[in-house]
Amino acid sequence: MATLSDSPVETHYRNCHICEAVCGLEIKVQDGQIVSVEGDKQDPLSRGYICPKGVAIKEMHGDPDRLRMPRRRTATGWQEISWSDALDYAADGIVDVQKRHGDDAVADFIGNAYGTVYGIMTHIGYLRNVLNTHNSASLASIDHISHLMSSALMYGHQYLLPIPDLDRTEFVVMAGANPLASNGSLMTAPGIRDRLKAIKARGGRLVIIDPRRTESAKLADEHHAIRPGTDAALAAAILNTMFEEDLVNPRALTRFLNGLDEVERVVAPFTAARAAEVTGINADAIRQLARDFAGAERAVWYGRIGTCAQTFGAITQWLFSLINIVTGNLDQPGGCMLNTPAVDLAQDPHIDPGRYNEWQSRVRGLPSFGGEIPASSFAEEMLAPGEGQIRAFVCIAANPVLSFPNGRKLDQAFESLEFMVALDPFITASSRHADVILPAVPHVECDHYELAFYSFAVRNVTKFIEPSIKASDAGMADWEILVALAERIAARKGISIEPTLSPAEMVDLALQHGHYGEAAGHPAALSLEKLKTSPHGIDLGPLQSRMPECLQTDDHQIHCAPDVLVNDLARLESDLFSSPKSDDLILIGRRHVRSKNTQTQNCQRLMRGPNLCTLFMHPDDLALRELHDGDIVRVTSTVGEVCLPVTSTEDISPGVVSIPHGFDHGRDGVQLSVSSQYPGVSANDLTDDRRVDPVTGMAAYNGAPVSVGPLAAN
Ligand code: SF4
Repeated sequence: MATLSDSPVETHYRNCHICEAVCGLEIKVQDGQIVSVEGDKQDPLSRGYICPKGVAIKEMHGDPDRLRMPRRRTATGWQEISWSDALDYAADGIVDVQKRHGDDAVADFIGNAYGTVYGIMTHIGYLRNVLNTHNSASLASIDHISHLMSSALMYGHQYLLPIPDLDRTEFVVMAGANPLASNGSLMTAPGIRDRLKAIKARGGRLVIIDPRRTESAKLADEHHAIRPGTDAALAAAILNTMFEEDLVNPRALTRFLNGLDEVERVVAPFTAARAAEVTGINADAIRQLARDFAGAERAVWYGRIGTCAQTFGAITQWLFSLINIVTGNLDQPGGCMLNTPAVDLAQDPHIDPGRYNEWQSRVRGLPSFGGEIPASSFAEEMLAPGEGQIRAFVCIAANPVLSFPNGRKLDQAFESLEFMVALDPFITASSRHADVILPAVPHVECDHYELAFYSFAVRNVTKFIEPSIKASDAGMADWEILVALAERIAARKGISIEPTLSPAEMVDLALQHGHYGEAAGHPAALSLEKLKTSPHGIDLGPLQSRMPECLQTDDHQIHCAPDVLVNDLARLESDLFSSPKSDDLILIGRRHVRSKNTQTQNCQRLMRGPNLCTLFMHPDDLALRELHDGDIVRVTSTVGEVCLPVTSTEDISPGVVSIPHGFDHGRDGVQLSVSSQYPGVSANDLTDDRRVDPVTGMAAYNGAPVSVGPLAAN
């Protein structure tokens, strides 16, 4: 590598923080700047794989739009201020609102960084303890709460979350997931294309269920184009077929299953013939899929965002889990297994195991889960007057205007707030509403441990990541901001709080007392010191069977028929099977390998090339409306409209249209110089915050009814 500087080039190893694959990276640094980013061939999980977003970390780290110091809103614009002044100002504003309106008048939300920045996970509780509000939420309720809830109800803890044992399975069904674009989610599996190809190479089979013939579907042996929002009907029919045809064999699980008879009874009405009518998948194909899956020695049924962010998300994840259970594929090699993480979140007494419906949101009565309320309730909680109204907001590493349902309503709600704090390194569609912005130092300048994603990895691995670049003395890490803010709020409220350990010190304790620690008598005797001597990470082996010992239900059994989920089947019957069919087009989302939610669009390297933000529509639907490929069209829903170019493609089912999420950075006040050249539209200007899965309160991002017409119409 030729460089102009005489300074030495340092080599650092860390993980990519952009998506859940957490690929190992080899980063070369000179004079405090990244000069190259490559895949780390010695990373035990990613083995050198890297995608275009990982390479872009160099550009993202040097982004001139990134804030280096806090900003305060003034009558004449943003003013840079010191950390001390910014934290005092933030604490004053929060406490002032709470003193006048009560603690619940302040809400907080944590975005993706909950998983990607370990200091947020370790220290958010420190801040929340002093905020003392019922109005906390996180990305769980806009992304994966159905999965967490299914695990909490069936296995006793939200983080007992089984994932596909991808490297040993022979038959995988993936529903509502496009891992070739997302690189896997709730399943840390870097280089997933090769992992999926390997299944086929060893004689296995990949089945994709998705309304769109996605990149993953094109790799698959079989693709079923399902009608959006009907996955629960398909899953119930698969189970029904297995019971009817005597294919049920839970194998080793049998001795600790509770409620399987109840499952057989409640899925009985959902026959393959009836499911065919609502899903659009032929009844014979449903029955054959049930037989093939049950007949496979090592199989796993997996569902992700498309099956979660819909009106039946909770029962869908439950029924998918049951398919793995009744075929004996849960907790078995090649099936659906738990990771045995070196730091086990399910054993952390500070983490809520997933208590359900302890309280409800004020306006709509949506249920709490795991100590949080659904994010879909926030806009109305901010706008509806009355006791308990949210009047101030702490937005932590998130862009809710683009990622919550009905973003325009949230824009309006943010405008109505008395005070807002944003922990954000950029002035985005959301943080532009803040009174003060607190920008943490970037990931590559921080240490890190994959608390979340190593818990969902397809192999047991561990690694501690040290800073690749020394942070400026003036910078603060996310956890330091949380602690400093908590201390100031506590002082103003007269609350005493204990000093806290750093995230690294917490991880050290957890490692030593975890599955591979000295306290457990494990020969690896993991500790922070030991991990620091293995910068590429340590391979702890393939996934292991852990049940029933790890179960945290009262009776240490798997609860196959939780009441709240069983009872929701009545809604499936009434709303899906017994409702008249609509002629509306149905909107779904999509991912692209060059984009990750709202966080990668300010990077020229990723944004150049074909426009990613277009409407996918089937040629027959275009012809019906006398529209043509490339036209700018108007898409209208119950809550709003957007105008964007249309792409004609036979890959999407007739009657279904798709818009990627995370775009629309062109709003007034946003300071993202690259994104503003490629603004796109926000799919969440179309999603309705009132259209939720009532069991979880999660917004149904997929399945919104929309109409599409020419731009000139209206
Ligand atoms: S797949 Fe994800 S983790 Fe890996 S390099 Fe790409 S963005 Fe980073």
